[in-house]
Order: sequence, then C-alpha cells, then structure tokens
Amino acid sequence: MQQTSYTSAPPRGRDNRHTGAQPARGCAGLDDLLEIVVNKRMKKTWRVQVNFKTGERILTIPAVLANPPQEVKDCLIRWAMMPMTRRARRNSEFVKTKRELEATIRAYMESSGVAQERKSRLNPNIFEHQTKGFAYDLREIFDALNRAYFKGELKSYIRWGQADSRTSYQATRTDKDGNSFNLITISGVYDSPQVPEYAIYGLVYHEMLHIAIPPRMVNSRRVIHGRDFKAAEKKYPFLDQWAEWERENMGRLVKNAKRRVKKAKAAAKR
Ligand SMILES: [Zn+2]
Repeated sequence: MQQTSYTSAPPRGRDNRHTGAQPARGCAGLDDLLEIVVNKRMKKTWRVQVNFKTGERILTIPAVLANPPQEVKDCLIRWAMMPMTRRARRNSEFVKTKRELEATIRAYMESSGVAQERKSRLNPNIFEHQTKGFAYDLREIFDALNRAYFKGELKSYIRWGQADSRTSYQATRTDKDGNSFNLITISGVYDSPQVPEYAIYGLVYHEMLHIAIPPRMVNSRRVIHGRDFKAAEKKYPFLDQWAEWERENMGRLVKNAKRRVKKAKAAAKR
C-alpha cells in the first residue's frame, strides 16, 4: 500500500472552501482527520473507515483515483467526510448528496477506462407485478405520461421504494442476460390515497425526465437538473401545485408512513 495526500490540492486555510469539506471540530485540520491510502488491488471501488474514538478516517482508493482532477478529489473528500450516524444516513438530503458524489467519482473512473462495477443481475419482470400501490398503479401512470409527453417511446421499469422512503430516483441496472434497463423507484411515502393525482403524476414525470434528459458533464461537474431539464419539467401543468402540496404535506405523510411501518413490524413479531 502506498500513501498519498493529494498534494496537488491547494493549501488549506486561505482557499480551503476548495476542498469542499468541513474543517471539522476544534482546530484539527482535514489532514489530521483524513488519511488517504492507495490500494493497488482495489479496482472499481473505494471505501472509508472511521475510528470512532478519535474521529480519524482512512479513505482507501484504487490507483485510478490517486491523482484525479481537483473536482473529483473534492468529491472524494466530501464523500469520505460525510456524517456516519444512522440518523444522518436516513436523511434524504444525505442520500441525494452521497449518490451525486458517487456518480461524479464513478463517471471519472469510467472515463479513465474502469468498467462499471457489475451489479447483481436480476430478472426485471418481477417489478411488473409490484406496481400497484394503495391508491395508484405506477405502471398506469407511467404509460399515461409516456403517451402524453414522450410519444410512448420511453422504456423503464418502475417500482415503489420502501414504505417510509422519502426519495425517488432512477438507475440503470443489468438483467441476467447482461442487457441494461432503466428502473425508476418512487418514494414509498407517496404510496397513499392522501396523495393527490397531480402530485404522484408530477413525481413520476420528474423521474421519467431523468431518463429522457440524462445528466451531462459540464466542466467536470455533473449537471442533473440543467436548464433543458427544467424547461421540460415546466411542460407539466401542475408543477407548481405539486411543489406546494409537497411542501405542505410531506411531513405528515412521512409520519403516517413511519407509523405504518412500525405497526407492520410489531405485527410481524407477534
Ligand atoms: Zn431530479
């Protein structure tokens, strides 16, 4: 194993906003808390280990990440310094940020010739039997939106996320024959008769747009909700109404969902 300290990074202090990482507690600098180690046997992944007593972290990276552009370094450091508590990890902002950082790092690795980590191969048809929720069938919503906005040409599987999940996302996966497919996962909290039609349609439309308008790299930044994305999103007539509804009702829906999950768990124990 060989150590690296990302020496090409700008000095801390004057320009430390550049590292994107929190200067952390007390007067300990980032260098005192994060050690970066290159592991030659590692190819497609990276990991961080934390010493919970001292707060020190060790980021282990493959050789391909030993000297990436500054933006990718920033992402790695931010990723390595993310909070580790279970409470933080359940936060939807946390999940989103983490996913975005990982996507940028992975995009760089792929551009450097490292093939994507092979995901578990599965039969996506199982998702087709799980689209019906308490009030809405995601397949019906997807098909209606596909006809209305995408000439029926968009292809994706769609499923509900866990009952109390707050985030929705779309991902590319590989089936058992090696073919890739799109999979949209919709926040389980939206699986409720209390959710108005315009809200669930707005959410599914948003995720479909991510397939139609994939993220672009602009100056080594991954632009996800770019100008073209936002313009296309405005074609949905209830966009503002959905946003307003979400602002006012999400808290209550999350509470209800949590209660539902708790009850289900208690019932399963009995
Ligand atoms: Zn989005």
